[in-house]
Amino acid sequence: MTELPTTDNFLQSIIQADLASGRVREVVTRFPPEPNGYLHIGHVKSISVNFGLAEQFGGRCHLRFDDTNPEQESQEFIESIQEDVRWLGYRWHGEPRYASSYFQQLYDWAVYLVQHGFAYVCDLSPVEAREYRGTLTEPGRNSPWRERSVEENLQLLSRMKAGDLEEGSCSLRAKIDMASPNMNLRDPVLYRIRKLAHHQAGAEWCIYPTYDYAHGQEDAIEGITHSICTLEFEDHRPLYDWFLDKLPVACRPVQHEFGRLNVSYTVTSKRKLKRLVDDGVVTGWDDPRMPTVAGLRRRGYTPQALRRFCDMVGTTRSGGGVDVAMLEYAIRDYLNEHAPRAMCVLNPLKVRLTNYQGEELLTAPGHPARDNFAERELPFTQELYIDRKDFREQANKKFKRLLPGKRVRLRNAYVIEAERAIRDESGEVAEVHCRVIDDTLGKDPADGVKPRGVIHWVSASAGVPAELRLYGRLFTHPAPAGDGDDLTVHLNPHSLVVNTDCILEPSLAQAEPGQSFQFEREAYFVADHQDHRPGRPVFNKIIELRDTWTRTEQQN
Ligand code: ATP
Ligand code: MG
Repeated sequence: MTELPTTDNFLQSIIQADLASGRVREVVTRFPPEPNGYLHIGHVKSISVNFGLAEQFGGRCHLRFDDTNPEQESQEFIESIQEDVRWLGYRWHGEPRYASSYFQQLYDWAVYLVQHGFAYVCDLSPVEAREYRGTLTEPGRNSPWRERSVEENLQLLSRMKAGDLEEGSCSLRAKIDMASPNMNLRDPVLYRIRKLAHHQAGAEWCIYPTYDYAHGQEDAIEGITHSICTLEFEDHRPLYDWFLDKLPVACRPVQHEFGRLNVSYTVTSKRKLKRLVDDGVVTGWDDPRMPTVAGLRRRGYTPQALRRFCDMVGTTRSGGGVDVAMLEYAIRDYLNEHAPRAMCVLNPLKVRLTNYQGEELLTAPGHPARDNFAERELPFTQELYIDRKDFREQANKKFKRLLPGKRVRLRNAYVIEAERAIRDESGEVAEVHCRVIDDTLGKDPADGVKPRGVIHWVSASAGVPAELRLYGRLFTHPAPAGDGDDLTVHLNPHSLVVNTDCILEPSLAQAEPGQSFQFEREAYFVADHQDHRPGRPVFNKIIELRDTWTRTEQQN
């Protein structure tokens, strides 16, 4: 017998037991998004669970669009979801599937339920139906239409389907138990009249199945062995089992629930994310501040970092919040290993080297710890840029950068000493005159006066002007808007600062859209997928080099 993989979460243990007992021979899972928005970080968790389990146990995973509610859905969302799943590195089995392609089967089964006295057409209005439903503490009441004959129900159902009846005038309901303590079993609605074309099925249908009716049967049709979903569906399981008991389905999926992923300082609800897009709070679903897969990708996150994050979070029965710092850690850790180093000056201050003429081509390693990165060429010229924050006219000993009369090392180049600051008419420092200390390339000065620190720089004549988009968190609160819906109350007004005055080292002019770098002493950046051009570089800030957020928050 081949050895089964080790288990470190409860779903793996369940599957292993199912394989061992023979209940299941091949593991079949599915990822079933509704195409009513772009995928977000919560979906990444679900994808990694479903595709991951299938992969681990040598089974298969389906991609199924749960498209039972055409009003909110669109082809754009269908395409973005496929792109995102592929980008994450997962491959679904066969073609993408659609709940809408099962509409006829679902309808035939509704007829079957009516024929067997398990469903009826109810004429209560939605408001009346709510009154009849009761509350958590009070049982509901039977609908006056509950005892219609099978013949009358069949006739009404076929008139619903034919479009003879008005929207809202009636619905098809399961006949279960209006007194059940589980509200989901109080005669739930199976079909509603919606006179609306469907993005896949066209104008064929004017009644649409509810999610609760369709979902379990879709899984049965596809032979799903493990229907994995999030905890809020635990109370729906008895209903799904009720359908499977009553209907002549060929396969019986078993549902297992795990805790939803919630990440602090973000929202993981398509509805809320759509609001941010529709209200113009962000530039689109792929705005680099969005926790969508498209946004994370444009922000510079990688599939590896997202998958690693999902592994770190783990899969448990208890839903719990995860600190966004963990997500940030995952990408920072990835980039530290994989991002080439480069220099970029964000707030340029000119340095003129008074004892240096001409030009040299220096080289620098692509990565400090790995030798499989190409070396970069760094033109060294008489005029350079350093960052304004790296020069002061006066400072105490803690300031390890440039001061008049003091020395610093220019990263990957010489040691220089500042002579004096030149001011413009407004009195601001416009330029710093410095001298190069001879023979200090790669070694300390011979006179024993060591540099105070290392700063980054770019040649003024060879450097390339660039736009940097400095992104921060979209929200200032760990649980934005709480349960309320007004997300604007916790919006971070500084979530995007655009800096158009930056100067890049020339090697970065060749960067491809989507390529990431560590701008030394600054942060990790990615060349923007949309707007970056070799002649007009645009970089997005991915993440700080260290977790500075937690520190500044504590200081405030
Ligand atoms: P949303 O509330 O954002 O619309 P949803 O659950 O309605 O999410 P679906 O398109 O139905 O979105 O989700 C597809 C799958 O992704 C479902 O199986 C769902 O359980 C899972 N999923 C959605 N959000 C999360 C999350 N935050 N954590 C884990 N799984 C999730
Ligand atoms: Mg949903």
